[in-house]
Amino acid sequence: MYFVRTVTVVPKLPDKIARLGELARNLWFSWHPPARELFRQINGPLWEEVRHNPVRFLLNVRQDELEKAARDSDYLDLYNQVMNELDNYLTAPAWFDREYPQHAGQVIAYFSAEFGVHESHPTYSGGLGLLAGDHCKSASDLGIPFVGVGLLYKSGYFTQRINREGWQEAHYPYLNFYEMPVKPITNPDGSELIVSVELPGRTVYLKVWQMKVGRVVIYYLDADLSRNNMQDRTLTGQLYGGDRDTRISQEIILGIGGVRALRALNIHPRAWHINEGHAAFLLLERLRELVQAGVPVDVAREAVRAGTIFTTHTPVPAGHDVFSAEMMEKYFGQWYEQLHMDRETFLGLGWDEEQRVFNMTLLAMRLSSFCNGVSKLHGEVTREMFRRFYPGIPLEEMPITSITNGVHHLSWLAPELQALFDRHLKNGWRNNICRPETWVNVAAIPPDELWAVHCQLKEKMIRIARDNLRGQRLCNQEPALRIREVERYLDPAALTIGFARRFATYKRANLLLRDRERLARLVSDPQRPLQIIFAGKAHPADRAGQELIKQIYELTNQEPFKGRIVFLENYDIALARTLLQGVDVWLNTPRRPLEASGTSGQKAAVNGVIHCSVLDGWWPEAYDGENGFAVGEIRAYPDEDIQDQDDACSLYALLEETIIPMYYDRDRRGVPRAWVELMKRSLQTIPPQFNTERMVKEYCRLFYVPAVERDIRFTGDNYTPARQLQEFKQRIAENWSRVAIISVKAGDAKSMGVGDPLHIEAVVQLGSLAPEEVAVEIVYGNTGDQSFLYSEVLDTSCLVRTARQQEQLRNISRMPMTPAERLPDGNHRYTGRLILPQGTLGYTVRVRPVHPDFAHIFELPLVAWAPAF
Ligand SMILES: *Cc1c(COP(=O)(O)O)cnc(C)c1O
Repeated sequence: MYFVRTVTVVPKLPDKIARLGELARNLWFSWHPPARELFRQINGPLWEEVRHNPVRFLLNVRQDELEKAARDSDYLDLYNQVMNELDNYLTAPAWFDREYPQHAGQVIAYFSAEFGVHESHPTYSGGLGLLAGDHCKSASDLGIPFVGVGLLYKSGYFTQRINREGWQEAHYPYLNFYEMPVKPITNPDGSELIVSVELPGRTVYLKVWQMKVGRVVIYYLDADLSRNNMQDRTLTGQLYGGDRDTRISQEIILGIGGVRALRALNIHPRAWHINEGHAAFLLLERLRELVQAGVPVDVAREAVRAGTIFTTHTPVPAGHDVFSAEMMEKYFGQWYEQLHMDRETFLGLGWDEEQRVFNMTLLAMRLSSFCNGVSKLHGEVTREMFRRFYPGIPLEEMPITSITNGVHHLSWLAPELQALFDRHLKNGWRNNICRPETWVNVAAIPPDELWAVHCQLKEKMIRIARDNLRGQRLCNQEPALRIREVERYLDPAALTIGFARRFATYKRANLLLRDRERLARLVSDPQRPLQIIFAGKAHPADRAGQELIKQIYELTNQEPFKGRIVFLENYDIALARTLLQGVDVWLNTPRRPLEASGTSGQKAAVNGVIHCSVLDGWWPEAYDGENGFAVGEIRAYPDEDIQDQDDACSLYALLEETIIPMYYDRDRRGVPRAWVELMKRSLQTIPPQFNTERMVKEYCRLFYVPAVERDIRFTGDNYTPARQLQEFKQRIAENWSRVAIISVKAGDAKSMGVGDPLHIEAVVQLGSLAPEEVAVEIVYGNTGDQSFLYSEVLDTSCLVRTARQQEQLRNISRMPMTPAERLPDGNHRYTGRLILPQGTLGYTVRVRPVHPDFAHIFELPLVAWAPAF
């Protein structure tokens, strides 16, 4: 007989443990090992089978297992302890409440195309998403009034399989949202909350979901509704999938739909953080709201700008979305009128005249008060990339700064190491990770104890790696012999390097494979063998990345690499955690300077895993010569091949001469003393700085709080401050061509004694501008060739380039000059006096506009420099 209906009978939670349901739906469990224990203890194999997804776990666990747990007094003790901790966590006043009580409840909204919070919610592709996830977790820890906005992808990114030939296969499973830690938002009448956006010729409806991450909520938009046509239902199908039309539609859903969802939820953020250009359309929706409310569009621009923050995450062109004018016309043709703009002005919001495209990064930059890259080096690279939009402004003074990425330490730190830290570090170390004192006692951990925990984690990692390989071979229907062989792969005693990340070609997964013979000698050394574990997904459209995977896969089947080099499939948060906690060395070999930050090495460091990396991204800020290893040199390369060659040589030499001897130098008890010292130095120097608590506090202090205050001010008094600033900018721009420094008089001594003052006088033409509207200043700094060490590299990676400006000052200091008199011809005489530090310095004089409401000295990027004097 056939069945006519199906019904699913789900287990009921016994009263005594009823709150497990709530625990399962707050991602707090993901950084709280005892919370995960509550699920694992009920049924460990099931917990693994559902891939640590507690919602699915509770749907699949047997009723009698729940009943049994509810009768077990040890279990109940743990349960009560965890629930108390959760309640405390959610209600106790936190850092933000103490630092900024006046800003309680003033919401900061964070828009991102991807969030990587936990493996049970696979809607991330790599570092950008992981960073967003860790950002939310720290925002929660710190008690910041913070919400996330993202898309709920029906198929997430993709699941990676490696087939028999070594090709990556991308699988797109349908995620069942009802088995995930998300919940639809309902209206008071019980109906689901739906918002909509207009796409050409139609309206697309979006369901709003929420996910709790501690105290923070991430709102997700989902287009998979029967009200939408089949095509539109797939708009939120895949992360970074589809064609240009899909991409722009997704970005409209995220940016515009996201603002509408917040409004429908009655959330009115004071500050808006655009995490990468994908979300920048939120600016257009906020402009539209104001214009519809009767605010003139030019004033609305200043009002929108006041509370906006933009973070750019990569110098790689693929990370900067651009759309053609036709595409913009197709999707935004209706908007010009609504915004009271003509086509030209509208496109001008993000237009790149040289490339003749609408650039999402430019849109975000032009309408943000605060803009940053994600490491010091990436800040420099970004300024270099965008300098042509800031003519005449010294690179280091461009309004693009940097905040270096971090990681959420408790999400990455192995529970076994947490237990070790509980024994040796000061009480409360978990909440004081930024304090160097917290880490001082690492020195006192007995070396054999630290080493024993590391070895334990390594063995666990190797078990999981073998399971992964066995799974691949089973799935590929390989012979039993090949499946059994896996049990002998990877040696817990061998020095193990981990390399796992997105397989973008600039990350050079194959750098270590350049010299096969040299590598063969290293892996087959009978006394001091080396082994390497690779993992990572290539974007389904990135053929070169997939070929890299195949190349590595083929190597893993050849002698002498077999069993010593392996490729694990489906790199995700769970696998990342395992590898980052269990390998000895974490390798990172990007082609400098294309790695904006990178964060996986920070996750490694907190686990005592040694970071070995090219000095790119965050690593130059952390590496002190004794806390890890640096590959290659800091220099410009005219040619990628030469750069790769040099970096590979440097890496082999480092392994042969330093890393391998140090790792295998053991004391009587088999403990590598010097290596453990290195682990300790790494633990003491890296985690206190490279964590998201420090990072989110910086965002708060430098951007969020000033943005909130600007938003309050600019929108207050019926937008008067916004209007005044707009009028000021307009007047200055219209009159700037007449501003000039006519002459400068300075002592012409070529050398002076320390402490001698330098007197400078300048005659400045201001036209119709008043002296209070400008700053006339002496600028001085170091001279010397300014050409960037990596300018050549930027060249070959087709980044935005400009003609090299003539020699620039570096480490610029500014000294204001004072107006002395108004000359009969209407010009102004300024004087200044300066005592210079010792050394050879360059100096000059300039004029720039000033306004008390500027977020940055070059918010209006205009400047007039002195002619040669
Ligand atoms: C941390 C992490 C990344 C980012 O690592 P990089 O250092 O930027 O390469 C990517 N994927 C996963 C799963 C991660 O956990």
